[in-house]
Amino acid sequence: MNSQRYFLLLLVLAVSIGGSIFARAQSATNTQLDHFDLTAVDKSLDPCVDFYQYTCKKWIDSNPIPGDQPTWSHGSKLNLWNQGVLRDVLEKASADDPERDLVNQKIGDYYASCMDESAINSKGIAALKPELDRIDALKQKSQLPAEVAHLHAITAALAQATDSGAKTPLFGFGSSQDLDDASKVVAAADQGGLGLPDRDYYLKDDAKSAETRQQYIAFIRKTQELLGDSPAQAEAHAKVIMDTETALAKASMDIVQRRDPANLNHKMSLKELQALTPHFSWDEYLKAMGGAPPTIHYLVATPDFLRGVDQIIATDSFDDLKTYLRWQLVNASGTLLTTAFADERFDFYGRKLTGQKEQRPRWRRCTQAVDRDLGEALGEAYVDRTFGADGKQRMLNLVHALEESLGKDIEQLDWMTPATKKEALIKLHKIEDKIGYPNKWRDYSSVKIIRGDALGNAYCSGEFEFKRGLAKIGKPVDRGEWLMTPPTVDAYYDPQLNTINFPAGILQPPFFDKSADDAANFGAIGAVIGHELTHGFDDEGRKFDPNGNLRDWWTDADNKEFEGRAKCVADEYSSFEATPGTKLNGKLTLGENTADNGGARIALIALQSTLAAAGKSAETEDGFTPEQRFFIAYGQVWCSSWTPQFLRLVAQSNPHSPPQFRVNGVVQNMPEFQKAFNCKKGQPMVSDNACHVW
Ligand SMILES: [Zn+2]
Repeated sequence: MNSQRYFLLLLVLAVSIGGSIFARAQSATNTQLDHFDLTAVDKSLDPCVDFYQYTCKKWIDSNPIPGDQPTWSHGSKLNLWNQGVLRDVLEKASADDPERDLVNQKIGDYYASCMDESAINSKGIAALKPELDRIDALKQKSQLPAEVAHLHAITAALAQATDSGAKTPLFGFGSSQDLDDASKVVAAADQGGLGLPDRDYYLKDDAKSAETRQQYIAFIRKTQELLGDSPAQAEAHAKVIMDTETALAKASMDIVQRRDPANLNHKMSLKELQALTPHFSWDEYLKAMGGAPPTIHYLVATPDFLRGVDQIIATDSFDDLKTYLRWQLVNASGTLLTTAFADERFDFYGRKLTGQKEQRPRWRRCTQAVDRDLGEALGEAYVDRTFGADGKQRMLNLVHALEESLGKDIEQLDWMTPATKKEALIKLHKIEDKIGYPNKWRDYSSVKIIRGDALGNAYCSGEFEFKRGLAKIGKPVDRGEWLMTPPTVDAYYDPQLNTINFPAGILQPPFFDKSADDAANFGAIGAVIGHELTHGFDDEGRKFDPNGNLRDWWTDADNKEFEGRAKCVADEYSSFEATPGTKLNGKLTLGENTADNGGARIALIALQSTLAAAGKSAETEDGFTPEQRFFIAYGQVWCSSWTPQFLRLVAQSNPHSPPQFRVNGVVQNMPEFQKAFNCKKGQPMVSDNACHVW
C-alpha cells in the first residue's frame, strides 16, 4: 500500500470481467502502432491559437472512440497491441498440454477459466456461496474483525486502491515504507470501503451527483436481486449499503488533502491504534491474518476515518453491517461472476460512469485479469517477445540526457538559493533509473490455480499478493520491486525509493520509436522521462529527500518562492473547463501539471544539447525545424477522444489533467514554443502570465 505514487497516465477504472454475448473477439494482430507523423498536423489551423487541435484534429477526426472504450488515444492503441501479444502467450499457455511448465499452467489455466463464460454461468452464485455462507454464519459483532481480515485478503487485488484510498471493505490495510524513514517497511492502515470513485460523489449536492447516486443505488438493488433478494428486500438493502458508504465518505479525508504526505503521517502503537476503534479489535483482525506483524509502529494515514468506522460499527445493526460486507464482497467479485452480474456492473461503472457503450471483448478483460493477478509471470513472456537489449541501452541514453538537462536547469534557476540547489542536485543524482522489467521475477509457485474456478483463482492470487505485502513488514526494503507490470503503458516516479520507472509496455511507438529521429523521441518519451524526473521536485515530491524520507531540505525563502510559482500553475489549470460546468481542480492536478511543464522544458533543453553536439541544430524535415518537430511529437502522443462522462469523472477525481490541457497548458507557458512557431503576444498559446517552476 504505497500511499504516494506518481503515474504518468490515468488510472482507468477497472470495469467488468464478465461479458455480454455480443462481445466479439477482435484480432489484435491487426492493430497497427502509430508512428510519429508530420503529415498528421492540420496546416489549415494556426498552432498559436490551439496547438492541441493543430497537432491532433486530423487524428481525432479519423479515430472515433470504439464502443468498448471510454477514451481512445495512441496509448489505448498501444495497450491493445500489447494485449494482443499477451493473448497469444495466454492462448498457447492454456492449451491442455501435459508438458507445460508451472508458469504456463498457472497463467494458462487462469486465462482459460476466465474465458469460459458458460461454465461461469452454469455455476451461477454457487461460486460465491462459500463466502456468502461465512458472512451469514457470523453471530456477533466481535466476529467482524476476523471476517474483515479475510475479505481484505481475498479482495484487495480485485478492488484496487485509487488516489482516494483503498477499495476494500471498511478500510485498507497493508505494508508501506515509513514516511520518515524510507528504509523501514511498516504496517499501514488507510481509509477505504467506498463503491463510488471518491468521497465527493456521496456528498456533493449538484443535480449530476444526485443522479449518479440514484444510478448507483439502482445498480446495488439489481445486484441484490441477482443474489436472491425480493424487490422489497433489495430496496431495503440498497438503502442500508448507501447509508453505510455515505457515513464512511463523511469520515474520509478529501483527495486534495491526501496529496500532502504530512497529512497522512501518523505513527501509532498498536495500543494507540486500538484506542481509535473501541468496537473493533485489532488483535482479532491481526490474529486472523496469521498474527501481528513485527512492525516498529503502525502508519495510520487517516485516524479520523478509523474513528468514523468505529462509530459505524458501534451504531449500525449487526445485520446492516453484514449486508454491507456482503455487498462489498459481491461488488469486488462481480467481474468474475455470471454474465448477469457482470452486465449490471458494466452498466454502472462502464456505461453510466464513463460513457463506454459496450464491454471490451472477453479476451481483453481476461488478459487484463491475468496481468493484474499473475502479472510478472505473464510479463516475463511479454518481455521475451518485445523488448531487446538495444532498446534498453537507447532508452538509458535518453534518460541520462534528461537527467543532465534537469541538472543544468536546477543550476541556472534564478529563484533558488545555492543551499537548496545543492540539495536538489544531490537528490537528482541519487535517482535510480529502472527500465523495462524487474531484474528478479516474482515467484508464484505457492499460488494454486485450478482450471474451471475463475473466481477462486482470483481470490487465491489476490490473497497471495496481500500476504506478500504483509510479509515485507519489518524487512529491508526491496528496491528492485516494481509497482507496474512490464506490459503496462504507463510510467511512474516513486518518491520513497527515489526511482523513475518505465515498463517495457510504454517503450514502443509512438512513445519510443527506434525508427524516429531525435526530435520526435525527445518530444515523446523524452518528455515522459522529464515528467517523471520532475515529480521528484513537484509540490509533493519535493517534500521527500534523496533517501525517500519526508524531510524539509528547503530554505524558508525557497519554500516561499516555490509556493508562489506552484500557485501560478494551480490557478492556470483551475481556469480550464474540462466539460461544460466542470472545471479542472488546479490543486488536485498540481503535481502532474508541474511535472508536465518541467518535463517538456527539460526534454527540449536535452534535445537542443544533443543536436548541438552532433551539429544538427538547424536540420529541417518537411519544412519543420527540430523544435517544431519536438513540440508536434509532444502534442501527438496526447491526441485522444473522450466521452463527456469520462472527462467529467477524470476532472473530478483524477490528479491528471485531460490531454488537451496537458498540451495547451504547457505550451502556453513556454517562450521556446512561441519562438518555434512564431506566436505573437495576445494569441491564445501565449500566456500573459506564463508559469515557470522548473
Ligand atoms: Zn505524473
